[in-house]
Amino acid sequence: MANFEPFLLKNVGIPASHTLKVYKERGGYKGLDAALAKAPAEVVQMTKDSALRGRGGAGFPTGVKWTFLPKDYTGPIYLCVNADESEPGTFNNRILMEDDPHQVLEGVMIACYATRATTAYFYIRYEYGHAYRRLQAAIDELYKAKMLGNYACGKKGFHCDIYLHRGAAAYICGEETGLIESLEGKRAWPRIKPPFPAIEGAFRKPTIVNNPETLACLPHIMTRGVSWFKSIGIPADPNNPRDVGSYGPKLYCVSGHVNKPGCYELPLGVTCREVIDVHSGGVLGGKAKAVVPGGMSMGFLTEAELDCKLDFNDPIKYGCLGLGTAALMVVNDKTNIVDVLFNSCRFFSHESCGQCTPCREGTAWMTKILTRIRRGKGELSDIDLLAEVAGNIGTMPGTTICGLADGAAWPGKNAMQKYRQDFVDFINSKKSIVRQDELITAGAH
Ligand code: SF4
Repeated sequence: MANFEPFLLKNVGIPASHTLKVYKERGGYKGLDAALAKAPAEVVQMTKDSALRGRGGAGFPTGVKWTFLPKDYTGPIYLCVNADESEPGTFNNRILMEDDPHQVLEGVMIACYATRATTAYFYIRYEYGHAYRRLQAAIDELYKAKMLGNYACGKKGFHCDIYLHRGAAAYICGEETGLIESLEGKRAWPRIKPPFPAIEGAFRKPTIVNNPETLACLPHIMTRGVSWFKSIGIPADPNNPRDVGSYGPKLYCVSGHVNKPGCYELPLGVTCREVIDVHSGGVLGGKAKAVVPGGMSMGFLTEAELDCKLDFNDPIKYGCLGLGTAALMVVNDKTNIVDVLFNSCRFFSHESCGQCTPCREGTAWMTKILTRIRRGKGELSDIDLLAEVAGNIGTMPGTTICGLADGAAWPGKNAMQKYRQDFVDFINSKKSIVRQDELITAGAH
């Protein structure tokens, strides 16, 4: 990866990189010009041909998602930008929005033009105050320059408004239909699908939901072309008919026990070991015991599995849920995996919206079992009980509305499969490591 030249992060660290003037001086908005010179259908086709996949977690092909909008629909179409970045360990979109907001907004405008959306709602995580102010200032600059509104950029027939909407400070607001409910002023309860948002989304109108990093790739695809984008990354796995390849760059967030935590732009398909050892300065304070490959909900890789390629396909082969947000959290071998799983379960239990019994009760149950184990009162049968609960909640067994329960279950499934002996040893030791405040927050008894 020595010759890879970052482009999503190329403006980060440049003085005044968040202003329209500096962004344009550094080649900004040429991708939008290139898109506006084409018909919207051509922009959609180009995005499809690039095989750009959503960077927010699911990895769905962006151009294909756009084609789900009803043809010849004459009413309003909306674009929702999902910037409710709440997956533990994930901060790549925050960096883009704070340091290079125009790159994301250029992608938003290209997506609006391609999909015929006249309004984009930028749903931003509540805690991201600095990013919110930077984005609002950038949007104001665009209106002043007449690049937004009616006849946006002077293009006849192109109407584009962008509104910032501050999130409701809950993990579930990042689920696309939870986001839409919240945008409409309601509690962020995910909707039963179908209908999918492309048919009936925000305000019951056709809606596309895309992630900021995904949108930030669009200007570069428009200026540099499809072949350039597909020259980066990993082609489709011939043994997996559902894999469409993992092309382009990815922002990998690295946190936990590493010497140089940060956000690194690398081609999709780099190995987990390379991200940690070459780019993040290696593991801090020992060897790696576990690495979360893409946000906590993806599960764990063991030290022996660190040659896993960080693309949309390979983590699944290692028993993880997927690439997720590509946020690596490194846990060294001095850390108790029982503690790590407890923190994960406590988080997801707190963030469950409560609509589905398996998710609401299952996440709370797992937290209570782990609290019991950490109090030194666990039984060996608790290990199978944890595995059973984890195996029975989520959209994968088909018991819940959204994927939060899968995200809550996967670290539990992986921990029971890959670190079973750690749990056996801890339970047999009868050691108590629980604190009083945890008993209160976990509701344990
Ligand atoms: Fe809510 Fe959990 Fe059901 Fe998702 S799976 S809708 S978070 S209860």
